[in-house]
Amino acid sequence: MKCFVYNGMPSRVVFGVGALDRLADEVETLGAAKALVLSTPEQRETAEDVTKRLGDRAAGVYDQAVMHVPIETAAAAREKARDLGADCCVAVGGGSTIGLGKAIALSFGLPIVAVPTTYAGSEMTPIWGLTEAGVKRTGRDMKVLPRTVVYDPTLTLSLPPAISGPSGMNAIAHCVEALYAEDANPVISLMAVEGIRALAAALPTVVKTPEDLEARGDALYGAWLAGASLGSVGMALHHKLCHTLGGSFNLPHAQTHTIVLPHAAAYNREAAPDAMERIAAALGGGDAPAGLFDLALGIGAPTALKDIGLKESDLDRAADLATRNPYYNPRPVTRDAIRALLDDAYRGRRPAK
Ligand code: NAD
Repeated sequence: MKCFVYNGMPSRVVFGVGALDRLADEVETLGAAKALVLSTPEQRETAEDVTKRLGDRAAGVYDQAVMHVPIETAAAAREKARDLGADCCVAVGGGSTIGLGKAIALSFGLPIVAVPTTYAGSEMTPIWGLTEAGVKRTGRDMKVLPRTVVYDPTLTLSLPPAISGPSGMNAIAHCVEALYAEDANPVISLMAVEGIRALAAALPTVVKTPEDLEARGDALYGAWLAGASLGSVGMALHHKLCHTLGGSFNLPHAQTHTIVLPHAAAYNREAAPDAMERIAAALGGGDAPAGLFDLALGIGAPTALKDIGLKESDLDRAADLATRNPYYNPRPVTRDAIRALLDDAYRGRRPAK
């Protein structure tokens, strides 16, 4: 066995149907008395329900979370937290809302209780992101790791199939890259494999029968493991490509992950044979990159970058940007090979062995 370092992330997870009933107790357990509830404008109603459940432990609602945490939004939310005398944040929503909670924690140190309603996984990571003048900066800081995460699958019932599928593939991408990360370790690899298995088994039912609470619970369980994987070990080519495409071409986050993942896996197929074997087994056998592509296709998620707003004329610039300051990757990253990968992803070709 190879030498490794394992860093356990110190967060408390409360999981299950009805877990939301314990929210007020969880805030109390943190020693907090006034929680600012965060949400997107679309999830205002959910935020209000949460506020009611918190009773006199609620300080108010800030419902302006948007994708990629613009610094102006972060500043306005911080001001609201200060004005209301909040001593913790309850972030109810997907990666955008939890990201806003992290921006407040980064400068004020307020503890976060995360209540995730998508499968993006941000709630289990110490990774923050802030966007200024169209440029997103990210970093790692233990201050932003949510102290408590309340996973209640009931809250994901309203996530439409068109968002659920890509969001689940986004989670699978965290697991895939954890298996060939530079600092991969046996414990996180176990979680990553189980995350892929749970999500791949649940997602077809989730998109076909969105009200199936059992499948929703399995998908959210997979998303927890995926977030924990992303939070504990590094990222590689896939995440670098998605950050480039999202940041410089404004492509939607989860859909971009869905489309790029089979091609990033194909790129690393020969360089990471053990990871590919474990991914394939978790998907039910066959070839890992093709299996990821077939899963996305089967759940009606997009499979071509041309269908989500990228232009053919963008491919050269995308290849240039993605090969500048590359992340660690098991196979060396070269501009020509990445240009070819992007062409496959642009056209939506099924990865061939
Ligand atoms: P999101 O949070 O932007 O949510 C997408 C949309 O779905 C929003 O309109 C939201 O209101 C709505 N929504 C969320 N849950 C819903 C539900 N249950 N029912 C109905 N509507 C619902 O999307 P996301 O993919 O979860 O997050 C993307 C963002 O998170 C990106 O900015 C990404 O960079 C970030 N992210 C960060 C990390 C990290 O570790 N820091 C990890 C993953 C993602």
